[in-house]
Amino acid sequence: MTTANEILKPFDHCRRVVVKIGSALLVDRKAGLRTEWLDSVCADIAALRRRGVEVLVVSSGAIALGRSVLKLPAGALKLEESQASAAVGQIELARAWSESLHRDGIVAGQILLTFGDTEERRRYLNARATLRQLLKLKAVPIINENDTVATNEIRYGDNDRLAARVATMIGADLLVLLSDIDGLYTAPPHLDPEALFLPVIADITPEIEAMAGGAASELSRGGMRTKVEAGKIATAAGCAMIIASGKVPNPLQSIEAGARFSKFEASPNPVNARKTWIAGQLHPAGELHVDEGAEDALHSGKSLLPAGVKRIEGHFSRGDTVAVVSLAGHEIARGLAGYDDSDARLIAGRKSGEIEKILGYAGRAAMVHRDDLVLTHAGNTKKGRKKANV
Ligand code: GLU
Repeated sequence: MTTANEILKPFDHCRRVVVKIGSALLVDRKAGLRTEWLDSVCADIAALRRRGVEVLVVSSGAIALGRSVLKLPAGALKLEESQASAAVGQIELARAWSESLHRDGIVAGQILLTFGDTEERRRYLNARATLRQLLKLKAVPIINENDTVATNEIRYGDNDRLAARVATMIGADLLVLLSDIDGLYTAPPHLDPEALFLPVIADITPEIEAMAGGAASELSRGGMRTKVEAGKIATAAGCAMIIASGKVPNPLQSIEAGARFSKFEASPNPVNARKTWIAGQLHPAGELHVDEGAEDALHSGKSLLPAGVKRIEGHFSRGDTVAVVSLAGHEIARGLAGYDDSDARLIAGRKSGEIEKILGYAGRAAMVHRDDLVLTHAGNTKKGRKKANV
């Protein structure tokens, strides 16, 4: 359960936060980009980072900004018009973020994702590796859908769900959707004076979904419906979500200062949910047979390094699920392969430092990264007798 105190200080226990910003907040139809407001958001981001919170931004606004720069008339855009608007708007948007964050001494990195980048495992791993690296280098990723190439059939279309996918991809503790409304109501508040505000949503029930309706404003794609869908994606993976108003300066500080917001609580068993996903739902495409040293390392929560891998079976690509098997022939873990099987065979038994020499490129140090690894059975080694944590 969320306590009143946690509700008031939602960033207190956070290590990593994704902030999604709606188009209507960033772009004024007549005046264009709202730079003063953007500067206030960047000041909030800088303040969070000083507290040790890593921040990623999912910024909408490319199409809205581009159409205003191109002076396209109001009303619905044809697909190729939104693609052209996004091309013009995104370059402005990225520059604005970069300049504004720079004032607070922060470096921005632009990431444009397409649907496949989050839904196909290999591309997902690639995108995640880039995001992780940006965070490691203390840059703030500024993410948007790559609207210049996305077509209607294969796109998110709304950044609410994209932001939720990014939040789960990167293991964020909190997703903040800054919107032109301050949270979820039992009915659209501008239409129904009886509408009640919902401060905490512990579970996304069909009733909650029904309350979300389908409304969207002219500038933004998502309405409350895509926000609740984002809530489902995020909370199932253990990431809490907040819907708050961005119509004030310093919107993130305002949240902490007591502004009203709705909080969707994270699933109480997120780790199990993810582990069940890796351990149970995917069929291993291959096997990595490991020595006892590696088995011990896995049981103490470490990644599987190539040095501990004795033998490889099966054909798999990077990102496929593989089983990790002990010398005694028992499956001890499952995880997502960091290498294709052909490369894995070349580096098996070798030190991570030798990878570049052997493969001709600097690959990942781990054969299976610990974030992508689930212990499925306790092993027979000393530490392995500890209960497997599934
Ligand atoms: N990706 C779109 C843009 O940058 C916005 C999508 C949305 O409003 O959710 O213009």
